[in-house]
Amino acid sequence: MTDINPSLSRLQGLLDQAQRIAVLTGAGMSTESGIPDFRSANGLWSRDMSLAEAVSIDYFRRDPAAFWLAFRDIFHLKLVGGYQPNDGHRFLAALEAAGKEVTVLTQNIDGLHGRAGSRRVLEMHGTLLTASCPGCGEVHPLDYVERLALPECRYCHGVLKPDVVLYGEAVPLIEPAFDAALAADLLLVMGSSLEVSPVNLIPAEAARAGIPCALVNYTPTRFDALFDVCLRAGIGETCRQLRA
Ligand SMILES: [Zn+2]
Repeated sequence: MTDINPSLSRLQGLLDQAQRIAVLTGAGMSTESGIPDFRSANGLWSRDMSLAEAVSIDYFRRDPAAFWLAFRDIFHLKLVGGYQPNDGHRFLAALEAAGKEVTVLTQNIDGLHGRAGSRRVLEMHGTLLTASCPGCGEVHPLDYVERLALPECRYCHGVLKPDVVLYGEAVPLIEPAFDAALAADLLLVMGSSLEVSPVNLIPAEAARAGIPCALVNYTPTRFDALFDVCLRAGIGETCRQLRA
């Protein structure tokens, strides 16, 4: 490694020293896989409804058929199975393969960390890859869900609910996520602008506990001062220069 970018060298040093690494990832992690930022989605559903209303548990309960129509459109459900992990996802899997204890805390719902080979992944906002029956609990894979306009449980015929955490639902894994961050000896944040609460409070808790924190994100965040190292760079270009 050269000294051209001192922040990159410092990040490499923190990675080398750490054994237990928590990695918080957001939408920026997956943009190089071609996945759009869903918050800027703009489709049929948006004419008289905000994203938060369309992807809400209230709308699902009130009108499941209209909900599923909007949900498919917003999350490009047909394309989800075709997205591939990128160098960022692969780097985190490589860290784990190199013997580090890596826990990925992700805000993403695309399943790409798991597909890249990361084994400890907390999908804090759930996943697009499955939908479950609220009645009997049976989990159904995406290829089943894709085939039906209104996906029904193959056993009890209840309308399936996506396994994404909808607006109005609690974030069930938020406590384990805080626990994993506070048990780590390095917190790395990648591709998150830290705008979504309560996930964006994780770095502050870690910094307060004296855990070194590093950020790789294209744009500044309002929490940059918490981090020992801030890299305003792409995730792929950064990870291609790091050793696992
Ligand atoms: Zn069922």
